[in-house]
Amino acid sequence: MKLQEFHAKTLLTRAGLPVPPYAVASTPAEARAQAAEFLEGGASAVVVKAQVLVGGRGKAGGVKLARSADEAGQVADAILGMDIKGITVRRVLVAPGAEIVRELYLAAVLDRTAQRIMLMGSAEGGVEIETLAEENPDAIVKIHAHALLGLQPFQAREMAFRLGLGDHLRQATAICTGLVKVMLDEDADLVEVNPLAVVREDGPDGPRETLQLLDAKITLDDSALGRHPGHEEMRDLDEEDPADIEARAAGLSFIRLEGDIGCMVNGAGLAMTTMDLVKRAGGEPANFLDIGGGARSDKVAEAMRLILSDRSVKAILVNIFGGIARGDEVARGLVEARSKQTRSVPMVVRIVGTNADIAAEILADAGTDIVSATSLDEAVEKAVALAGGTA
Ligand code: GDP
Ligand code: MN
Repeated sequence: MKLQEFHAKTLLTRAGLPVPPYAVASTPAEARAQAAEFLEGGASAVVVKAQVLVGGRGKAGGVKLARSADEAGQVADAILGMDIKGITVRRVLVAPGAEIVRELYLAAVLDRTAQRIMLMGSAEGGVEIETLAEENPDAIVKIHAHALLGLQPFQAREMAFRLGLGDHLRQATAICTGLVKVMLDEDADLVEVNPLAVVREDGPDGPRETLQLLDAKITLDDSALGRHPGHEEMRDLDEEDPADIEARAAGLSFIRLEGDIGCMVNGAGLAMTTMDLVKRAGGEPANFLDIGGGARSDKVAEAMRLILSDRSVKAILVNIFGGIARGDEVARGLVEARSKQTRSVPMVVRIVGTNADIAAEILADAGTDIVSATSLDEAVEKAVALAGGTA
């Protein structure tokens, strides 16, 4: 689950990291009022930033500086409702505008190959890391945290020096350690700060330079959401695929793919196998869908609705291995879903295992145009043929 910048900043602020204060607005008037407060508090400018779950907002015109409250209101008016990479901006973040001296990149990521958390930094911040990785991979410093001991103080110092932050050693090491800590404490897959900025500000003894986290991107591990009661509230339903929201509500594991054969299977392993066989037979699966063990007929009907909501689906392949899931329950769900379906799509069903015989009777009695199959190969071949594939 990806977090909006302001949510990510909440977690980083809570961890004691130097994030400039911020407010969130959904109307120009709100943004104007928030800007007025920051400006009265001594800020010489404010920055208004689109809150959407895509990168490159700056380039797309979704990040703008304003020098007065009125200007902030106008800028917010322009950004709210803007389309950035297909997403409509509904909220903006308003913050005191920083006077940037240098922009760096710093992130804690999960290195699955090394099975470690990796701290990744670059003195060339602001640019997208993917671009940098392609054009100048040597400019990226990578340091793996110890699997048990975490990021060691000497490692944090090494990163700070290699990024040229020797003048900010104390702050830089605290930020390195902090990003890894947030990653562990919040069960995140990614904690990215781009830019981490050297900022000039007024101190008690005149101008001074400090480090500030000006942007933040956090991706949480979905499987760990249950361990963090506050995280679910940070989900942005506006930016999720409606099919994903429905699937989650129904307790189905559903991932939409590019093909045209809708698959309904019980068990993740069987679902993967089914997809492999579809591919081998020359077809393309339209989705991965695991209805789970012990699925009742209503869940089956919901799964069918999800599959059919994808207009590119030309055939449906149901492959159920009845164990805890009962074949008759699935068959009832299929018949129910079939009776309500608004679009006529050919369907091939293979149900084996628990109550497969009753399932066969239910499907036969329903007198629908459901094509049955006994072996998995046969089912796959029929589905691919019905979708107009090569088998
Ligand atoms: P992104 O483009 O989606 O990554 O959004 P960012 O928050 O990283 O902003 C893009 C760019 O806007 C940054 O790289 C900065 O150059 C600039 N920017 C962001 N916040 C400020 C700020 O407070 N002051 C100034 N001067 N520039 C900023
Ligand atoms: Mn950024």
